Amino acid sequence: RGVAKIGNSVRWPNGIMPYEFAAGYTDTLQAEVVSRMRKLESLTAINNVRCIQFRPRISSDLYYLTIRNGAGCSSYVGQNPGVAMERTVSLKYPGCFDDGRTMHEFMHALGFYHEQSRPDRDSYVKVNWQNIQSDMAFNFDKYDNTVVNTLNTPYDYASIMHYEKTAFSINYLPAIEPTQTNKKIGQRYKLSPIDIQEIRQFYNCSANGVLLPTTIIPTTTIAPSLNPSYYSSEFTINHPMFARNGSFGTNYYYETLRLTIPASGSYTFQCTSYIDSFASLYYTNFNPSSPATNLFLSYDDANADNWEFKFTINFPSDYTMDFVVTTYSPSVTGPFQIVATGPNKATLVRTSSIGNPNRQQQQQDRQQQQQDRQQQQQDRQPQQQDRQQQQQDRQQQQQDRQQQQQDRQQQYPQQPQP
Ligand SMILES: [Zn+2]
Repeated sequence: RGVAKIGNSVRWPNGIMPYEFAAGYTDTLQAEVVSRMRKLESLTAINNVRCIQFRPRISSDLYYLTIRNGAGCSSYVGQNPGVAMERTVSLKYPGCFDDGRTMHEFMHALGFYHEQSRPDRDSYVKVNWQNIQSDMAFNFDKYDNTVVNTLNTPYDYASIMHYEKTAFSINYLPAIEPTQTNKKIGQRYKLSPIDIQEIRQFYNCSANGVLLPTTIIPTTTIAPSLNPSYYSSEFTINHPMFARNGSFGTNYYYETLRLTIPASGSYTFQCTSYIDSFASLYYTNFNPSSPATNLFLSYDDANADNWEFKFTINFPSDYTMDFVVTTYSPSVTGPFQIVATGPNKATLVRTSSIGNPNRQQQQQDRQQQQQDRQQQQQDRQPQQQDRQQQQQDRQQQQQDRQQQQQDRQQQYPQQPQP
């Protein structure tokens, strides 16, 4: 676990961390990060009741994480409400792309400093200042009980928030070492049991609350006079995928439903889920390998508070369309329910297949080939981008240096933590 920063404003309200990706990741890399968010949510859930949550930012979010393919792995600590700054979580590809390193940075974002920052750390580790890079020395600072809260947990050598022996060492000699024998420090594989316990404690999580979307969601009831028809399903890893926005990466799960409208009139379609659903309607037929063909309209969020789709269409007569359900973010699984209401009873019947391994393999092969082609294309034109990137990197470094200087002049809580 690391050690929690003092103060209620550190916490993200209700444990909800809105996020957005800065440019610089492919859809596939974004999906990797999102899958680690899901893993962190799942690890901290109690009896499948959600403890913390990551979700794409909406326009009304004042504070949100910006996930950036930056210079290294780092994050600010906590939400820092009232501070005007980008709440950057830097996850450089590929160096920071594993469960351990990514979750380490997310734990900073949740409000935790490094384990070795605990007030009692001198009883457990020895810091060798003479071996430490001077500009990184702040990471070995010890904070007192006015800054951090150990949440009454014991010192945790196994924490994912503990540094390894040679972290920021200038000479390969230990920067920090356990005072107890046979103790290892600095693992970046998984949250320790105490890490998980501390997140739950810090966010006051209990077994009563919102269930994780691994089972069926509650059924919405609609007045019978509205002729409701219901369609319930769940995206799984066995679902087919497609390129929702036609961009790089074909990793959005989908279902194609045949929508039959029996007579003219206004019909409303509303989704209930936890998965940020996304709907598209097609004249006659949807072709997953050409998602722009026959497209009538796409629907994302109903409003700022609800990022599930809800929309109304006025049909001139009896009508059939393909109704494609997918998600706003790539590679998201989970259950959803659609309720259609109108002057007559509409029907939604799934026509896409689920769990056909041959078909999936073929699709994956096609995706891979497409990615390979795109990659080759990208490889042919990288030099200019590299030069631009270098220039940007230099500017970024300069900005970072200025930022670091500013941060040092302010208080340590706004220092990004590697
Ligand atoms: Zn760190």
